[in-house]
Amino acid sequence: MRETPPFRWTIAPGGYSIITSRRRDPSAPRDDKERRYITDGRPLQLRAAGTVIYPPLKEFTGLFRTFTEIGSSTERAVDFANRYGLLGGAHSVWISAGVGDDGKEVIAIGEDAFQWIIESMVMRQVLELWDAARQGNHEHLSRHIIWNENGVHFDSHPDLGTDKPDPPFHRSIASIGTAAEGSTSGGGYFEEGDLIRPALTHVQYVINKHLKDCASPKLLWEQQQTRLGVYVVPHSLIGAMWLQFAEAVERNSKFRECTVCGKWFEIASGAGRADKQFCSAYCRTKAHRERQAEPAPTSVKSRVKEARMSAPPRDRLPKSASKKPRTPKPSR
Ligand SMILES: [Zn+2]
Repeated sequence: MRETPPFRWTIAPGGYSIITSRRRDPSAPRDDKERRYITDGRPLQLRAAGTVIYPPLKEFTGLFRTFTEIGSSTERAVDFANRYGLLGGAHSVWISAGVGDDGKEVIAIGEDAFQWIIESMVMRQVLELWDAARQGNHEHLSRHIIWNENGVHFDSHPDLGTDKPDPPFHRSIASIGTAAEGSTSGGGYFEEGDLIRPALTHVQYVINKHLKDCASPKLLWEQQQTRLGVYVVPHSLIGAMWLQFAEAVERNSKFRECTVCGKWFEIASGAGRADKQFCSAYCRTKAHRERQAEPAPTSVKSRVKEARMSAPPRDRLPKSASKKPRTPKPSR
């Protein structure tokens, strides 16, 4: 497997919350409205202090899948930010975060919570389409990949007719291509009625569109520091997740949810590792410890169950034991 691109990201030490505010950066539009922003509320000049720095792509191999589970919930978006940081890139703007102790306005980094939800929903739509294409899920594909006299297009909400869904739900409609008789090449020409290739072409188009401004090739020293290599390096967490998605498509990666922490992780291809149950050595150890600690379960319910299971059934007790019950030892 190729080396993971070197990429580090930051998490604010005090966590994030949502505030209603306005943009304060020089490129904010004049008629900018109040919006809900995810922010750590810290003044710009202090934002490096105490920050947690971590390598998302190395530590969380299925992070983009976790991101698609935000759904329409801003609480989940904040929860995601608290674990992995802000999305960065064009999402990050300057906002007003109230007044400081010195009576001056605090300018902080903020990200529009509504845009988070749209980004997560768009990624989810494409992820579901990709999963359906590689699993041959005809039911899902035929609902969203639609052929008509103009060719083939994608519709995230085909049941809505010409309506738009209520915010924050986001409807995507995109033309994918046309039929070309006898043509087997890509480039927007498909065999009429085909669902798989148009679906994968739409996946390709959306991932490329999002990757365009949030990752770029760089010539960097490889891990051994002896030679230079070309890496695609993301500029932001959102760029890292779209890049992770692109690489998953390339490798046809499989993912699993960790049975301990619930995070998604890539199941490494190759012998003996496809049955991996845990995302990390940490979770494996935790599960192992919990198994070993089982004779002393914590909840009453499990203690009762445990007692029931460990006590031999009455009819199978040896005669001597059933006649003469053991007297309890005096307690000290
Ligand atoms: Zn885990």
